[in-house]
Order: sequence, then structure tokens, then C-alpha cells
Amino acid sequence: MSKQFASQADLAVKQTSFTKLSDNAYAFTAEGDPNSGVVIGDDGVMVIDTTATPVMAQALIQEIRKVTDLPIKYVVLTHYHAVRVLGASAYLAEGCEQIIASRGTYEMIQERGEADMKSEIERFPRLFDAVESIPGLTWPTLVFDNELTLFMGKLEVQIKHIGMGHTKGDTIVWLPKDKTLFSGDLVEFEAAAYTGDAQLEEWPATLEALRAMNAEALVPGRGPALIGPARVNEGLDYTKDFVSTLLTSAKAAVAKGLSLKDTMAYVRTQMDPKFGHVFIYEHCLPFDVTRAVDEASGIKHPRIWTAERDQEMWHGLQEAE
Ligand SMILES: [Zn+2]
Repeated sequence: MSKQFASQADLAVKQTSFTKLSDNAYAFTAEGDPNSGVVIGDDGVMVIDTTATPVMAQALIQEIRKVTDLPIKYVVLTHYHAVRVLGASAYLAEGCEQIIASRGTYEMIQERGEADMKSEIERFPRLFDAVESIPGLTWPTLVFDNELTLFMGKLEVQIKHIGMGHTKGDTIVWLPKDKTLFSGDLVEFEAAAYTGDAQLEEWPATLEALRAMNAEALVPGRGPALIGPARVNEGLDYTKDFVSTLLTSAKAAVAKGLSLKDTMAYVRTQMDPKFGHVFIYEHCLPFDVTRAVDEASGIKHPRIWTAERDQEMWHGLQEAE
């Protein structure tokens, strides 16, 4: 019998919230499921991360329509993961003019978008409501190297790749006037950080670069909107502790020559007391440990997850227990 992924048994539908952060910024959060952000300029709307399917995106579009009739002109992809990008066609139908992504994100979609889509859908079916409504991969129409500044009327919106962490293409959106930051999965709160495609070595420095922006509000990839500098720092500290503890313990296990399974057991002694209770921890940990071991073994560019590799890894870690 094949054992299910932890997430395949996770069926409880999450309640979404649409929280006003300022006149220009809203957070669409979902009790630990993937968040989206919304920026409302003078002449249009920007959506940051699309939700997983066009049908799911309608819930976000409905919230936007309660606060503005302006056209949804821009979609920004914080990174390439299917659960963030595959709802994009819903905004194209609304007249979206540009789908914006970093060069790193574009390259990841090219290299592994197809494999990632299959693997994510199989891993976590609940996150892909009406999966049949996805028309295929989402392709950026505007690709930037380091940063891009957009004026939505008078509102300045900075879109930046300030460092790697959750993926090599991580992108943030920053509203300098409001000091509001949309971090994507670079920051999580009260949920596990998925690090299966991460650059763990660089991640803490990227978090420090985010801290230096002195945000007044931060919308993380998962978890509640963090409002006020103290909460912003809490989110940054939480994520830094998660990724640092993971990599440090994986490095120690690799140095001792432990098997993947024994490494998992050792990493748990370091991670479980701090993070064992948080949302999607059991789902993420096997992928996280596998990537951390790879990185600790010198594999700089994350190996591509396929539906087959997912199964193989999961069985290798879970069976005969
Ligand atoms: Zn992600």
C-alpha cells in the first residue's frame, strides 16, 4: 500500500481574510494556506501571487471588487511555485496587461514549471480547487533582472529581487510611501517554511536585507499579515530560525555521514521542539530535510521534484517505521 503524503489527508478548507493595511495595500490571507497581496494605485490594481487556480482567484477578485472598480492591470509572481502562479488566467480575463517576474523565476518556469505543476498538484490536492480550470503554465510577460519601479498613477511600487532564499528568483513588492512589504514565501509565520527548492545558505542574509527596509507591515507567504515593526521582526526572526536550524542540523548530520532517514530523525530533535506544532510542518519536513542534505552536500542548484521523485523520497523516509 502506498502511504499518503501528509498533505493529501489535509482536507479542511481554510477561511480567507481580506485585510486593509493602508489606502493602497491589502492582504488576502488564508489561515496558513498561500496568501496573496493587493496594491491599489490611482489607475489600476496589482495582484501579488495569483492563487492556485483561476476558479480560486475569483474569491480574491470578488474581494477586490468590494473596494475598487479599477482594472486589475498587473500580476506579480513572487516565485515560480504552481500554487502561487497558476491562477493567472483569471486576471488576464479581467484585462491584466502584464505578468511580472524576475529573471530567476522565468528561468525556473522554463526549466521545471511543468514538473513542478504535476508534483505540487499531486502533493497537495486541496490547494488546487477546480484544478481542471488551469489552462497550463503561467508565462511572465515582463521580466526584470534586479528591480523594476512602476508608477500606478502617483503611487510608487518597487518590485525587487534582493536575494535568494525560498527560490533563486524570489521577488518582493515594496511600497516606499506606506512602508508595506509583500515578501512571498521568503517570510512565513505560524506555518512551516517549505524549502524543497530553496537556497538555504543565502536565505538568512536575504531576511536581513528585508529587515533593513524597516517595514511597517509585511504580508508573508503564509500566515497572518504582520502589522507594526515588532510583528514584522517576529516574522523575520521566525523564518530565520526555521531555515537556520534546518540547515545547521542537516550539515551536522551530513558531517557524521548519517543516512537520509537518520538525518531526518536528528533534524527532528532540533526542529520539532520549536516548530513541530506549526501548520504544514509534517508536509514540509521531508522535502525540507532532503533539500538541506543536498545543499549541505554541495548541490547548489536544487534538484527538480517530479511526481515520481516525491513518492520515492516519501517512501524512503516513512516506510518500515
Ligand atoms: Zn513557494
